[in-house]
Amino acid sequence: MKNVDLHCHSRASDGLLTPGEVVLRAHDHGVTTLALTDHDETGGLEEAVGAAHELHLRFVPGVEISVTWCGSTIHIVGLGIARGDEQLAQGLQSVRAERPRRAGKMAAGLDAVGISDSLEGAMTYVSNPALISRTHFARFLVGQGHARDVKDVFKNYLVPGKPGYVPHQWANLADAVKWIRGAGGIAVVAHPGRYAFSPPDLHRFLAEFADYGGLGIEVVTANHTPEQCAVFAALAREFGMLASRGSDFHGPGESRVELGALPQLPDGLKPVWQAL
Ligand code: AMP
Ligand code: MN
Ligand code: MN
Ligand code: MN
Repeated sequence: MKNVDLHCHSRASDGLLTPGEVVLRAHDHGVTTLALTDHDETGGLEEAVGAAHELHLRFVPGVEISVTWCGSTIHIVGLGIARGDEQLAQGLQSVRAERPRRAGKMAAGLDAVGISDSLEGAMTYVSNPALISRTHFARFLVGQGHARDVKDVFKNYLVPGKPGYVPHQWANLADAVKWIRGAGGIAVVAHPGRYAFSPPDLHRFLAEFADYGGLGIEVVTANHTPEQCAVFAALAREFGMLASRGSDFHGPGESRVELGALPQLPDGLKPVWQAL
């Protein structure tokens, strides 16, 4: 049976496994089509392509771009991108560029509440020095006993209003979609249930995304309840969007949902993988 997982992470961003290990694990868990979608980074794709080729697993090169839209952080997944595309590479480079400065400010915020040397600490969890994220701080804080698990760290330290949170301006929505399309990819709204949008704002966002040429929306993801799945399936139909399915797997022991271990797409939707 087909098992498509179009959203996961490797050590090229904030995942725990190497790209090759992600591919092997996906294969072991019955995934038949996989996209690796590291944050603002395509450096893991080459290794993943090679590993997938050896295992006869269908591989879709992907990326997850951090976007700021009307003050909210939104993630846009690009699927089926050309790895060597120059405009996309430069765009992602510009998104990554401010991460080190932001990390320094996060460390200063944590220092102010008595947690010292968190930048150095977070760096020990980073594999790709160009991509330091809140997840790496979270792992350090758990390691130091400041919280039980990564989820707890976010709640107490790394979200708005908490000491390690630093507001940040990511890519424009228009640019992110343009880079993905320019690289021959399909732009998909990642985990829409995570955003605290009112229904009118959500409609405004989806209309704007579609205007720029965004084509898809994740309907089935690890953090959607069955009710949210139904809501986003209805929105996919309303906006005529392609529907995606992705675990957002970051690593064993950390992610609740295993690669490929998701419900199937609801009926009556156009699966994005048929367009890839
Ligand atoms: P950043 O791009 O540095 O802001 O980090 C974002 C990453 O943090 C996401 O991709 C998730 O991997 C992780 N993250 C965000 N919120 C949470 C949360 N509440 N619990 C666990 N991980 C989270
Ligand atoms: Mn992540
Ligand atoms: Mn995301
Ligand atoms: Mn993700």
